[in-house]
Amino acid sequence: MTIIGSRLQAIHKRIEAAAKAAGRPRNGVRLIAVSKAFPAEFVRQAYAAGQRAFGENYVQEALAKIAALRDLDIEWHFIGPIQSNKTRAIAEHFHWVHSVDRLKIAQRLSDARPPGTPMLEVCLQVNVSAERSKSGAAPNEAPALAGEIARLPRIRLRGLMGIPSPTSDPTSQRLQLRALRTLKDTIEVRGVALDTLSMGMTDDLEAAIAEGATMVRVGRAIFGERSREHTSA
Ligand SMILES: *Cc1c(COP(=O)(O)O)cnc(C)c1O
Repeated sequence: MTIIGSRLQAIHKRIEAAAKAAGRPRNGVRLIAVSKAFPAEFVRQAYAAGQRAFGENYVQEALAKIAALRDLDIEWHFIGPIQSNKTRAIAEHFHWVHSVDRLKIAQRLSDARPPGTPMLEVCLQVNVSAERSKSGAAPNEAPALAGEIARLPRIRLRGLMGIPSPTSDPTSQRLQLRALRTLKDTIEVRGVALDTLSMGMTDDLEAAIAEGATMVRVGRAIFGERSREHTSA
């Protein structure tokens, strides 16, 4: 087995253990393998080990990988910040977008989703980190925004995505994750059905599953450390 294959196996064990500890079914949590900053060959190895859903943050980098891996049946998830001039490429090449954080971007994605393809599956990214600089809609604006996004014709609002600010304090981490789940409940009470909570990465996977994550986005634990912080767009 490849190193990537055995790391994937280890992640599946972590997910299974966390789901069990939370009294949740294992199949209620999907693994998105975040391949940003890693070459197409790594994605191919993960695919050979059974992984089908991959997450990317940077449009140019992702398009090159998507083209190089056209022979594989991959479900591509866009999880990075979205510039409006990139919405067409994203709407044409991805199955899911986790990082929709304003109405204008949602409208552009809906307008650009090619006719004859399935609707684009999207999550509204919410800033639960309380850090001003982070992207994501403000929690108090999220319910109204979700209602508007849910009405767009070519995208389907599936849920919420959050990136808690890194903290060594488990209590603060749990509160951020819980805030996202509570917000999802609030939005559902207002009549927008949601089935997805995209939260949890390499370091907070267990806490996220305990708080109700249905998708975890894991990079380093599968592909290794990224050599440098990736800045290209
Ligand atoms: C990079 C990234 C991940 C994966 O993080 P790891 O710490 O490598 O597991 C998940 N979600 C988003 C939005 C990311 O940018």
